[in-house]
Parts: sequence; C-alpha cells; structure tokens
Amino acid sequence: MNWLHNAIGQIEADYQRSSDTHLIALALPGFSSHGIDLYLKDESTHPTGSLKHRLARSLFLYALCNGWLHADSTVVESSSGSTAVSEAYFARLIGLPFIAVMPRHTSAEKIAQIEFYGGQCHLVERADAVYDAARTLAAQTGGHYMDQFTYAERATDWRSSNNIAQSMFTQMARERHPVPRWIVMAAGTGGTSATIGRYVRYQRHHTGLCVVDPQGSVFADYFDSGNAAVTGPGSRIEGIGRPRVEPSFIRTLVDRMIRVADVDSVAAMQLLSELLGRKVGPSSGTHFVGMLQLACEMRARGQQGSILSLLCDAGTRYLGSYFDPVWVHREIGDCGPALARMKSQLAPAFQE
Ligand SMILES: *Cc1c(COP(=O)(O)O)cnc(C)c1O
Repeated sequence: MNWLHNAIGQIEADYQRSSDTHLIALALPGFSSHGIDLYLKDESTHPTGSLKHRLARSLFLYALCNGWLHADSTVVESSSGSTAVSEAYFARLIGLPFIAVMPRHTSAEKIAQIEFYGGQCHLVERADAVYDAARTLAAQTGGHYMDQFTYAERATDWRSSNNIAQSMFTQMARERHPVPRWIVMAAGTGGTSATIGRYVRYQRHHTGLCVVDPQGSVFADYFDSGNAAVTGPGSRIEGIGRPRVEPSFIRTLVDRMIRVADVDSVAAMQLLSELLGRKVGPSSGTHFVGMLQLACEMRARGQQGSILSLLCDAGTRYLGSYFDPVWVHREIGDCGPALARMKSQLAPAFQE
C-alpha cells in the first residue's frame, strides 16, 4: 500500500505544481470582420510538449488505482511517439522502467525525448504491428501494457476535474461568442474528442464536434459506414489517424467528419506557423484545415460564432521531417497550391 500511495501522491503533487495551457485568439480579420472568431488551445506548453501529458497522467492514475502497477512493474506502451514521451516522464516520476513500442518512421526528436526521460524504444516496421509487439513485450517482462488506444476514453474524467473541454469553455467566458459553434479535433486514440463530445452534451451546449481525419486513416470510413472492422494503411500525420478503428474512438459523439489530404495538412501547418510566429506540429495543421473550411462555410452563409481547436504539439519535434522542404517534397508532395488557396481564404476582401 505504501508504494501505491506514494506513487499516486507523486503524480498528484506534480499536478499541483502545473498550470493550465493558454487559449490563443487568432487574429484573422477576414473572418472576425464577419463575426467569426478562431481559437487554439496551446497544448504544446505541457512539460512533455503535447496534449499527451494529460492522457499519460490519467492513464497512470487509472492503472495505479486499478491495481495494475506495482513496485516491480515494467510499463509498456504502443505509441506513435507523443504518448510515449509523456508516459516516460510519469514512469520516471514514480520510479518504474518504461518501454515504448513505436513504428520505425517515428521522428528522431521524439525517440531522443523518450530516452531523455529514461525510457527505452522498441521500433517495429509497420504502424499496425505496435499492438501485438507491446502485448508480447509486457508478457515477457511480466510488465503492464498501458494500451492507450483502449483506455484513453475512459481514463479521463469527462464531466469535470478540469478536463480539456471544461478548461476551454471556462477560458471562453469573456469572448463575444463564448459557446463555440464548432470544436475541431483529430483522432489518434479518440480520447480527446470523446472527452469534448461528452462534456458538450452533459453541459447541454449547442456546440458541434467536428473530427478531422488525415489521409490513410480509417476513422472517416468508419463514421460513414459503421463498419468497425475496416483497416487502412495508417496516416503520415504523426499522432493522428489510425490503420484500424481504435476502441477509444466513440463514433456516436461526432457530429461531422472532414477528410484532410496530407498536402493540405502540411500547407496549413506552414500557414499557421507563419500566423503565430512559431512552428506548430503537423496535426495542428490538420486541425487548421478543418477550422478554415468551417469558417468559410459560416461566412458564406452569414453565420456568426466561434470555432475552437488545439495546438497538439510544437513543430520543433519535426525539424528533420515536416519542416524540411526536401523531406516534404519527397514524402508529402507539392504543398504550394494548397497554401495559396488557404491564404486567399484568409484575405479580408475575400468573397465566396
Ligand atoms: C494524440 C495526438 C492527437 C490526437 O489526440 P487523441 O486524444 O489521442 O485522439 C493529436 N495530435 C498529436 C500530436 C497527438 O499526439
């Protein structure tokens, strides 16, 4: 009991020392002059650099309180990288060894960060091989497979406890459209969109949840067809889009889905980085594509309101990939036309 109480106490003390993340109001005259305001919650400022800091904290507390972790446990996780960085941080905090199972193409910066926090990386060739490899490793080490793709949606307190949705609504209180018309979120585990969707319904807000899905992911197909057995190649946008329907993705919470091509995600990542004066990660680009589409539709219909989304991580994690023009040209393609189209959508004089 002593070890368990101490481990939970360490995580709670770490939380007590933490501050909330900012909600950034984007200055976009082309939309604000039409009564449409865009906001981004900056999740890149967590100590481990992404929104997965929240998830990792919740998953550790859930596993500890369930009696799944002990003084001699090895913690194992399947991840596209961000969750593993945050879990390595919490594993070190409570003194447990950590192994991340990730696809080989995971960015070098993320691998370096996991190792910085004392974690080990086990790389597999294909994105869809992480699940079995993690389960096997956990069995071999007598450890515990955290399984974020199953437990993300249930490890978070969706009613309150300062979850991400409650924080966003509180931070909007003094804006001209305090209840957002739309919240835009991509799905990796699906956990964040589940928390937001449940919170919105529980509070009886008239806010739509729009999930943006990158090329190669199966979530949009599943949303359209209801077929949970659908599989795909998986996404090139790190952190979002999956090769299989993850148990944490709750389809009935989603009001609308938008499919986003990789050239659009990367162009929007570049545009958003320019607008904010600092580099944002590629999934933030995918979010911005959805926000722009919804904002253009509202402007064309003469609707007013606010649109919220997240900056999930910073671009500094992707200097050797999405921020390297040679890499982008080879792996993603020519983003020039998409960038020009989005810039014209932002222009104040733009008429539909
Ligand atoms: C995990 C992740 C997301 C998606 O969040 P989920 O709650 O897992 O659906 C988006 N962007 C980045 C960078 C992520 O790591």
